[in-house]
Amino acid sequence: MLLHFIGAPGQSLVLPWLTGPNNFKKCFALPIVMPAKDSMMKAAVMRGTQKLVVEDIPTPEPGPNQVLVKIKYSALCGSDVHRFQYGMANDGSVLGHEYIGEVVQTGRDVTRLKEGDRIVGGGGAPPAGTVLPSYPNDRYSARTVGIEATRIGGFAEYIAMDEWRPLLIPDGVSDELAVLAEPASIAVHSVRTSKFKLGDTTVVMGAGPIGLLIMQVLKAAGAAQVIVSEPAEARAEAARALGADLVINPMEEEVVDRVLELSGGPGVPVAFDAAAAKPTFQQGLEMVRRGGQLLVVSMAWEDVDLRTVDWIGREVEMKAAYGSQPIDWQTVLNLMQREQLSEKSMVTDESFIGWDDMQSSMERLMKPDEHVQLVLVC
Ligand SMILES: [Zn+2]
Repeated sequence: MLLHFIGAPGQSLVLPWLTGPNNFKKCFALPIVMPAKDSMMKAAVMRGTQKLVVEDIPTPEPGPNQVLVKIKYSALCGSDVHRFQYGMANDGSVLGHEYIGEVVQTGRDVTRLKEGDRIVGGGGAPPAGTVLPSYPNDRYSARTVGIEATRIGGFAEYIAMDEWRPLLIPDGVSDELAVLAEPASIAVHSVRTSKFKLGDTTVVMGAGPIGLLIMQVLKAAGAAQVIVSEPAEARAEAARALGADLVINPMEEEVVDRVLELSGGPGVPVAFDAAAAKPTFQQGLEMVRRGGQLLVVSMAWEDVDLRTVDWIGREVEMKAAYGSQPIDWQTVLNLMQREQLSEKSMVTDESFIGWDDMQSSMERLMKPDEHVQLVLVC
């Protein structure tokens, strides 16, 4: 879900492929992707709104400080689906940012990585002094500014990346788990950003990939109980399999009443909205206690319902979390190595798709009413 921020904590957040028009030109004038003379690769290329075509495009040639990665798995993210669905990707761009693979070639000046290294496609901290294009300004909007760019992403057989960008996958962490590193970094970032404290009982609304990962991170971080609200049975089942203490179906039960009851009356200190459904924002603000917090990590592209009179008197707060930082990725890899994150019920045999399934899979994810984490085998 969402995208990886590559600024150091405290610095302005940056995404080189998600920048304003001026920065965009600067960024892509750099020799990031140079066609190899005689080598072509397969990629899923955006060719208009809700149209994606598998084409042969030039295999990138790594620059002096870059590595060429043979991508093995590339997961389909909700934010890719948004770009596909709402026409937010330029013609010719290749989406995909949740991928893992193996270094197959290194540029002349590469020192940290070598051929054969298993990597996740992000999470590295830029070296000191690296000048990266920053977000256009303090008025950044993911809807209007953020996701318009042309670049070669993870829905391709190969990718050339600056050496500092990828992180090594620790020994013992499977490829099937590691491919969740980027959405897991979003989950870690949202928990770290929130007011959650060890011992709290919390609620996660929505058991899509991000909700399921937040739930696991909260358990690892010492939650007393994690209650999940999810109407789709397959997703609810995944939440149970991954250790949710209780799963509520908000279509069958009054979710706020139930949470109040479970909390002994006052509500929970923090609730997470990972659903982007019309009623969840209001429900979240209602179910937190006085001074409690609704942490919003999902992106609703449509209006949500709000009735302030129900919660204003308790001085509750709302906070958004977006993207992640290098420390979040590192935390994810540590949790994975300690087996505190699992891909069970998330990445299954049914998750894997081939090139020919890309168009239909993106269409399928536009209405994710079942539990689906789809992964392209590149
Ligand atoms: Zn993502």
